[in-house]
Amino acid sequence: MSKVLIIGAGGVGQVVVHKCAQHPSVFSEIMLASRTKSKCDKIAAGIEAKYGVNIKTAKIDAEDVPALTRLMKRFKPKMVINVALPYQDLTIMDACLEAGVHYLDTANYEPKEVAKFEYSWQWAYQERFKKAGLMAVLGCGFDPGVTNVYTAYAAKHHFDEIHYLDIVDANAGSHGKAFATNFNPEINIREITQNGKYYENGQWIEIPPHSLMKPLNYPEVGPKNSYVIFHEELESLVKHFPTLKRARFWMTFGDEYLTHLRVIQNIGMAGIEPIDFKGKKIIPLEFLKAVLPNPGDLGENYTGFTSIGCRIRGIKNGKEQTYYVYNNCSHKAAYDETGTQGVSYTTGVPAMIGAMMMLTGEWKGAGVWNIEQLNPDPFMKKLNEYGLPWHELHNVDLEI
Ligand code: NDP
Repeated sequence: MSKVLIIGAGGVGQVVVHKCAQHPSVFSEIMLASRTKSKCDKIAAGIEAKYGVNIKTAKIDAEDVPALTRLMKRFKPKMVINVALPYQDLTIMDACLEAGVHYLDTANYEPKEVAKFEYSWQWAYQERFKKAGLMAVLGCGFDPGVTNVYTAYAAKHHFDEIHYLDIVDANAGSHGKAFATNFNPEINIREITQNGKYYENGQWIEIPPHSLMKPLNYPEVGPKNSYVIFHEELESLVKHFPTLKRARFWMTFGDEYLTHLRVIQNIGMAGIEPIDFKGKKIIPLEFLKAVLPNPGDLGENYTGFTSIGCRIRGIKNGKEQTYYVYNNCSHKAAYDETGTQGVSYTTGVPAMIGAMMMLTGEWKGAGVWNIEQLNPDPFMKKLNEYGLPWHELHNVDLEI
């Protein structure tokens, strides 16, 4: 029985609140706080109508550490689930330390002014969380998140050493819009327009964006053009699994999507430097976000599946083995349950399960953790129970 504070009332926040409300024996009191309180109130009203669970709401600027600390001291949550934006990770961690509250997020810190994400800023909180006796769990969405747990589970149960890891992420859904992103457009476009980067033989290899492509076959989805991009879990996975000789992340993009992206970049709309517009400073990418479809509203007519998994090659009992573990998530089923599409769902469900692991003591320990460092078994069990069942294939052609 614990109080939880959820920060961020976007698509992912909506799913987290739904899933926590389904488990009142663990999440006995829930507060949803975000920059725009009306969004919290709308989600809370939906939950009240559906489950009869009361959700408290609050307006908060998560970059204002004193205000956030005051909110935490008033509500007294056991932990915070941070599903605001990566820009707020550090200020929320600061407030957790001030108020003595455990922390979990789904995306690593990224400074607003540079499109660059890495764990160094959050790993630097290790000693402070240890000293405070508090636990901070980083990257507990799907990818990062479930992909880290899949890797840990494979390493624990199916291999003596893992050597090759390919994380494959297909969104084989259709939302009927000419162009839309599946989560916050600003964060998404910053991520996928960066150079690609993968790890091989102890080195990071950088390649131009979308320059390495393979058509990969996804179960029940079929072949999809998949591109190597850099993704944050690669950084922690190669650190925690030093036997890895190579680690890559593949994401599917349709030709139409890539054409839109190229145009957006070529005309300067992906820019993050402020420009003068009618006497005001605006950031082109923030303006673009305002005119693009809201990812939270894509759900209603979304068809198809997401298909995300880990393809792993390594050694067991002296013999080479391959292993593929994955989940396919239906956009429609996600929408019917929570009112949002599959990408928010696949992020919000693991965030709730991670919080449940912490509150029930399955995961414990002071300090800052990436989730592959924690026991994967109870988490894997809950994935099957709470909406993201996984499947495994042994000794198949991984195609990569
Ligand atoms: P949205 O943009 O839909 O929602 C973000 C929410 O955070 C909004 O409610 C926004 O408020 C709020 N917010 C922004 N700034 C502040 C602030 N300063 N103080 C308080 N609240 C603030 O994003 P998503 O729901 O799509 O994504 C949420 C998080 O999940 C992101 O960090 C994203 O990177 C991560 N993610 C992780 C994935 C994974 O698999 N690991 C996959 C997809 C997303 P307002 O409504 O006023 O704008």
